Order: sequence, then C-alpha cells, then structure tokens
Amino acid sequence: VDTLTAKQRSKRMSMVRCKNTEPEKAVRRIASALGHKYRLHLRDLPGAPDLVFVSKRKVVFVHGCFWHQHKCAAGNRIPKSRINFWRTKLEGNVLRDNRILSKLRRDGWRVLVIWECQIRDETKTAARLKRFLEGENG
Ligand SMILES: [Zn+2]
Repeated sequence: VDTLTAKQRSKRMSMVRCKNTEPEKAVRRIASALGHKYRLHLRDLPGAPDLVFVSKRKVVFVHGCFWHQHKCAAGNRIPKSRINFWRTKLEGNVLRDNRILSKLRRDGWRVLVIWECQIRDETKTAARLKRFLEGENG
C-alpha cells in the first residue's frame, strides 16, 4: 500500500541525488569514532562511494532502502501512481548498483553496503563497520 503523501514523496525524491543524508552522517560519525580516516564521494571511483578508505582499499555505501530496493518493508514499497515509471526507475537503480559494485570488486576494492534501516541499530552498525575495516587485509 502506498502510504506516502505527495509531499513526503517529493521529499524522498529530492533525497536520491542528495549526498550527506542523515544515515550517511551517522555512518561517518561511527567511522570517525572508530578512529578511521576516510574521503567522501570520490568521483574517480565507480558510483562515487559515500566513504572511501583509500589506504585500505575499502569503500562503504550507505543506501536508502526505497531508492536502492532493499529487501525490507521500506524497500519493497512501490508507489501506487505511475507504477511503470517507478518500476523502471527503481530497477534501473538496482542494475546500476550491481554494475558499480562489480566494477569496484574487479578493481580490487572491498565493498560494504550499509542500509538505511540497519543504521537505527548503531551498536550493531559500529561492530559491522569495525569488522569490515579492521578485519583481514585491514
Ligand atoms: Zn531496508
């Protein structure tokens, strides 16, 4: 069921290209608290990853559940009006993400995707990020 009002939807639409979203800022705070240095949105890399740990050759993407079609309640929702438009658009986003992640991995980058809905559990996110950054090859 599409429960978004037009206003909410336009707010959400405006977020898609928008960097520096709240979930992104939360992940940055966590990475900083763990004592890791990172660059933001490196345009040289496919998809301009949200956080880039250059010397570790690791990147983190913070993905909005709706826009990147996470398999969660927020991600499974397709707006009721202009269904074909949304389906094409959202499927395009997913295909694009897959291409970007494959390209990065081929180039030797390790990639972590953190979903918007997972960030609510900040302790768990911190543990996950720590494992990713400090694990093997860290
Ligand atoms: Zn989600």
